[in-house]
Amino acid sequence: MAAIARETEAIVLDCFEHGESDVILTLLSRDTGKLSVIAKGAKRSKKRFVNKLELFSFIHISYQTSPNRSLSFLSEAELYTCFLNLRRNFELYTTASILREFLLIAIREGEADDRLFRLSLWALHNIDRNVQPLAILTLFLINFYEIIGYRPDFTICNSCNRQTTINRRYSFDTTTGGLICPDCSHPGQRLIRISQGTIKMLRSAQFQPLERLHRLKISGNILQESLSLLHDYGRQLFQREIISWKLLQKQLPFKHDKREYR
Ligand SMILES: [Zn+2]
Repeated sequence: MAAIARETEAIVLDCFEHGESDVILTLLSRDTGKLSVIAKGAKRSKKRFVNKLELFSFIHISYQTSPNRSLSFLSEAELYTCFLNLRRNFELYTTASILREFLLIAIREGEADDRLFRLSLWALHNIDRNVQPLAILTLFLINFYEIIGYRPDFTICNSCNRQTTINRRYSFDTTTGGLICPDCSHPGQRLIRISQGTIKMLRSAQFQPLERLHRLKISGNILQESLSLLHDYGRQLFQREIISWKLLQKQLPFKHDKREYR
């Protein structure tokens, strides 16, 4: 069957060398979700692809695809931005690597999602600007879960369905992605304590349009609780470790494992 020529915008999520001269890339593309392409001769060609296929680069690509092939052929790439700051700063790089790992776990071929694409670009731009990068990661993750269909619910107790009120202490149940009120919690459950400030912040982050999301400032205890919760929820949801989180833990301004279970 004849190859079809296509073009799209994409973010480079993974790249590795293949054979003597080729490079294989995994992309988050705007038009088809996860996309795997091979850049023939990319290691040798100095002009065609140089500096365009690095991790995190935001590019415009032309490629050839066939219905019976899982790997498409990259014809051309044009660089919009390579997020240079992010690549030169280890802390920012680590933060972006977590975003990258979550995307690689969740995205599927042929499942385009413009909201996820825009959210990812938004997060990379803001991490690159180095303005509250850990808060940007928090805001990315809370919206990421919503887009992939696993929005944590902070409005009711997940067990008795009563609306949350501001004068009670709640815990978060990572297995269900919801809150548990004091009446419904019992020994043996692995619940994370969550403060009213964190509940309020995460709720408002879920309903902010992307254009206003960066206005939410998150720091101190709320940042610590949010990151712990979003990390644990991801591990539970995907049933695996988030490998890049280990690097982040070493550079957090607080001890990550101080979270309270009950
Ligand atoms: Zn309850």
